[in-house]
Amino acid sequence: MKIDNHMHTALCGHAFGTPREYVDAAKKKGIELVTFTCHVPLEPDELFGGRNIRMSIDQLPRYRELIEDARVYGESVGVRVLCGIEAEIFPHPEAMKTMSATIDDQQFDFVLGSLHHHLLGYREWLEKMGLNEDGDVIRTYFKGLIAGVESGIYDSIAHPDVIRIYGTVEPFPAEAYQAEIEDFLDALRANDHCMEVNTSGLIKGVYEVHPAPVVLDWAVERGIKLTMGSDAHAPSHVGQHFDSVREMLRQKGFTSLYYFEKRERKEVSL
Ligand SMILES: [Zn+2]
Ligand SMILES: [Zn+2]
Repeated sequence: MKIDNHMHTALCGHAFGTPREYVDAAKKKGIELVTFTCHVPLEPDELFGGRNIRMSIDQLPRYRELIEDARVYGESVGVRVLCGIEAEIFPHPEAMKTMSATIDDQQFDFVLGSLHHHLLGYREWLEKMGLNEDGDVIRTYFKGLIAGVESGIYDSIAHPDVIRIYGTVEPFPAEAYQAEIEDFLDALRANDHCMEVNTSGLIKGVYEVHPAPVVLDWAVERGIKLTMGSDAHAPSHVGQHFDSVREMLRQKGFTSLYYFEKRERKEVSL
């Protein structure tokens, strides 16, 4: 069964199309279940990117309405639609408290945890902590993911090695920080926590899946459970590169994928 558990809505200000169009796109690609996971509302704006990064708290009812409409529409075309959120992993206890309250209040099906290392507020925090060298930034990133796993706030860690490529440090191969990445994988295993295979990297810059194939080798050895998402910001992205990536996962020895319904983990055969 094909599932896509990471996609956005226009409410975040940088995605396109209506949720119904994402459902139509899923249908065309033979995907039977999708989870919308738009960017969680977070304030203050200057820390968390503001209105073209995420919806505001008062747009949450509209988000629920849009996904409910897509769910009903999905029923008529044979695509199940679940409502999740892409939450942040961020070293700001007060903001994380507010975010957790929102998550509890909304009772989403699925909560992704993402550390968006390029957010201005995150970079300012690094600077304040004196973490300026690439090595410090990278080690802090993976420690941040571990803290995210241990927090119990999230169901799956999104695009876990995204820092290897985009922006704030010199690009590096996963092997250069194997120990740090393996610590993260060990934390996933110890907490029976999922991570995401995210295919959006395959349409950007270096054309790589997140995490890198070698990280998936280290993960399969540990029996890490995977969710899978396109990170669609437009209907045409839904299920992007799924067939080739699913084949790669099978070749590596993965046999299942997971999704979450009412925060409960469900297994589907790969
Ligand atoms: Zn986005
Ligand atoms: Zn996303």
